[in-house]
Amino acid sequence: MGKYDQEQKAVLDCAKWLSEHGYFGGFRGSGGNISVKVANQNIIAITPSGRPYWDMSIGDISVMDFELKPVEAKHAPSKEAGMHVAIYQHRSDVQAVVHTHQTYASIFSIINLSIPALFDEIANEIGALIEIVPYAISGSAELAQNVAGRLGNQCLCYILQNHGALSLGATIDQAWKNTELLEKAAQVYYHALLTGREISQLPKETIDYFNKMRESK
Ligand SMILES: [Zn+2]
Repeated sequence: MGKYDQEQKAVLDCAKWLSEHGYFGGFRGSGGNISVKVANQNIIAITPSGRPYWDMSIGDISVMDFELKPVEAKHAPSKEAGMHVAIYQHRSDVQAVVHTHQTYASIFSIINLSIPALFDEIANEIGALIEIVPYAISGSAELAQNVAGRLGNQCLCYILQNHGALSLGATIDQAWKNTELLEKAAQVYYHALLTGREISQLPKETIDYFNKMRESK
């Protein structure tokens, strides 16, 4: 048993499931990356760069510190590792980060449209508004800065302009669940917009209620 087996296994299980379910730009895709923070340490387990997930084992998941130095790593970490670290540095409530190229959320990334919470479950689990993070090229320090600039709204999902999606959680299970919830919200909103009918919004009192519930968690 390795020292970080638990975190590496959590990352691998989530990566394989999301890959098999098409969240990484194809049913065997690897367009995305996942990390889990080691409790009380500035260390993360993160998917490696540019490798398929379907035949990966626990030891292929990279473990590195916040300076991006390898702790236990057979492969180079994801090129988005700096973005993951920036999130952990700005949000102490976040212990897991999932970045995907999921289809319906990606539609909103190119029409540059935020997704409001239109169902109680979104307001409760994710936040009042899933905002767009301004574009910067993948893997750049500028993208990490742009993400950090949006984290103050305490939301658990974001859309990266012309790129993909980000889902956060206090646990990997929560970040994983939010990834699915975001895709459901994006899919339903997209189809609702196509009808041309007015979109029914949640009452402001409902949004305020769930904001207070989330703050007290
Ligand atoms: Zn990406």
